[in-house]
Amino acid sequence: MNLAKELKHPIFKTITKAADQLGVETYVIGGFVRDLILERQEPKDIDFVCVGSGIKLAEKVAELMPEKTKVQVFKNFGTAMIKLQDLELEFVGARKESYRADSRKPIVENGTLRDDQNRRDFTINAMAIQINKEQYGNLLDPFRGMEDLQNTTIRTPQEPNITFSDDPLRMMRAVRFATQLEFFIEENSLQAIKDNAERLNIISQERITVELNKIILANKPSKGFKLLLNTKLLHQFFPKMVDLYGVEVINNKRHKDNFYHTLEVLDNICENTEDLWLRWSAILHDIAKPDTKRFEKKQGWTFHGHEFLGSKMVPIIFRKLKLPLNEKMKYVQKLVKLHLRPIVLSQEIVTDSALRRLLFDAGEDIDDLMTLFEADITSKNPEKVKRYLKNFQLVRQKLKDVEERDQIRNMQPPISGEEIMHIFQLKPCKIIGDLKTAIKDAILDGEIKNDRQEAYQYLLKKAAEMQLTPLNQLQ
Ligand code: ATP
Repeated sequence: MNLAKELKHPIFKTITKAADQLGVETYVIGGFVRDLILERQEPKDIDFVCVGSGIKLAEKVAELMPEKTKVQVFKNFGTAMIKLQDLELEFVGARKESYRADSRKPIVENGTLRDDQNRRDFTINAMAIQINKEQYGNLLDPFRGMEDLQNTTIRTPQEPNITFSDDPLRMMRAVRFATQLEFFIEENSLQAIKDNAERLNIISQERITVELNKIILANKPSKGFKLLLNTKLLHQFFPKMVDLYGVEVINNKRHKDNFYHTLEVLDNICENTEDLWLRWSAILHDIAKPDTKRFEKKQGWTFHGHEFLGSKMVPIIFRKLKLPLNEKMKYVQKLVKLHLRPIVLSQEIVTDSALRRLLFDAGEDIDDLMTLFEADITSKNPEKVKRYLKNFQLVRQKLKDVEERDQIRNMQPPISGEEIMHIFQLKPCKIIGDLKTAIKDAILDGEIKNDRQEAYQYLLKKAAEMQLTPLNQLQ
């Protein structure tokens, strides 16, 4: 690979010029180099390291740009950033780091390129390409990162126990890269993660969750979760998920291992969605199974109500993992709560009423619920899976038909509470809610259409049964 030729972005020319004018050794380093060699996606950020002041280099680069360019300086960190349309460029002086036992924040001094490479997390992230004109395109790869890339290996450049103990976040990063790149973690590094897993407790949950979400957004997140379980990293921050692991046997009856089942569902759903929150609903759909598990003589293993308890656990888990406590959380809660509902539809003769009720309860999220439900079909028997999925196509079609006819998905009450109060001259009270629910149920059960006049007639009939007399007309 001719690296000089691969550095295609026009910005490299400007940086060469700036570096040579200042007379500082300058390199592009880290993730950009790794992804360039792997021919991975287009970069979103590029890190430059120079043996000197990163801030001065950035200012020089800005000066040489054809249009006016802003440099964001972070004095405390000695770094500077330039934002281009499609890219963020980060400039930093080469540094040497030493660590204390109680913190992942190192003591930092100026250093050489080699010092800077020594402090990097993995051999594949420590490669640098020189940018100065005379040495343009030279690869500096002291830890044989290139070989590790070829062998799809994650390995620390230093003794792994030291690397991981210094900054335990690197253990999460190891698992994240192994998952994203579909690499494996070299044996000594893996053992060191197992030995240091408990040290993850000095890392903030926010940082752990950033890595966790990157694992979840990979093509096949199960790989990451298996590594998290086997290294016991998962035990440190998400014990509820660990509880899913394992199989119990009573009277020769076993239940499935819900940890591996969850991962299968997660991988399945990843084939159909990139959405982080839909993926989270797959992770959490059975989270309450351990807490609802019972063995009953006749039925064997049951998990009654796990969908309801699960949806109650979602906010607790979101708070612990520092995930957002907003509409995303409510969305995950809703999907967890409803995840079993489509089963009825796929097995029995489906009534329109059942379809309408599901459409009403799922609202906007009906398609996502169906995607989750399909991913949840993980029988070992391929014939069974095929039959379910085929049945399910039918249900999807029926949902579409009902939706077109009745427009239930975003159904607004055809007669509002205020209107009911006005018609019967009532003050706010329970009766109004009862009447509204009666109208909604009548629509969902197909007794009346989702239509204002029909709803009005129905309202009058129901009110008469309750001996209410209308004093005003519906406007
Ligand atoms: P991506 O952009 O996919 O997250 P990346 O490798 O660019 O991948 P960054 O987090 O942006 O990841 O880090 C840039 C570089 O900084 C890494 O390639 C690595 O060399 C170094 N690095 C980042 N975090 C650490 C860390 N905790 N310990 C050691 N080196 C690190």
